[in-house]
Amino acid sequence: MITVGVLGIQGAVKEHMNMLNKLPNITGICVKYKEDLEKINGLIIPGGESTAIGKLLRDFDLLNPIKKLIEKGLPVWGTCAGMILLSKNISNDSKTHFSVMDIDVVRNGYGSQLDSFLIDLDIKEVSLKPIPLVFIRAPYIKSIGKNVKVLASLNDNIIACVEKNMLVTSFHPELTKDLSFHKYFIDMIHESKAITSTM
Ligand code: GLN
Repeated sequence: MITVGVLGIQGAVKEHMNMLNKLPNITGICVKYKEDLEKINGLIIPGGESTAIGKLLRDFDLLNPIKKLIEKGLPVWGTCAGMILLSKNISNDSKTHFSVMDIDVVRNGYGSQLDSFLIDLDIKEVSLKPIPLVFIRAPYIKSIGKNVKVLASLNDNIIACVEKNMLVTSFHPELTKDLSFHKYFIDMIHESKAITSTM
């Protein structure tokens, strides 16, 4: 059994939990306290408002414990605001948060709430079928470090990538019926478990 935590302090928490509940042999738990971190094999940082989540992470004393776990190899997936929280650089914001992933993001790169949009895109690494992607005040990635692998781009902007145990997406798979990205993240967790069990 794999237990996946969803950081539960603000944003699209319930939606990710609903997706996890649809997957076999997966337990989703809401992570609110430091003790919850002991139970999880992977962590999803949902979309919402990165400034608010960043502040609450500090208030709840969760920022450093989670950062340390990610640096030790805990698989983590940041969607939208979650991607901003993981990045080492935010082009249009001076304050970073976990600062663990070698990407440079542009907050609200796709404009305001009114500029939200939905497209279907082929992302070969993740699914054989086109995946519906929902963008809501979405960030995009302007540049990446040499160890980051691009999974998807849209008009020259990177919108999904991985670096070691970290996955980020500009969009919200939890707001669609498509489970491909959740399955992709579960595969990352299986791989990391396989690596740690051979060490
Ligand atoms: N624009 C938001 C931010 O800067 C992210 C939006 C989202 O997560 N849907 O945090």
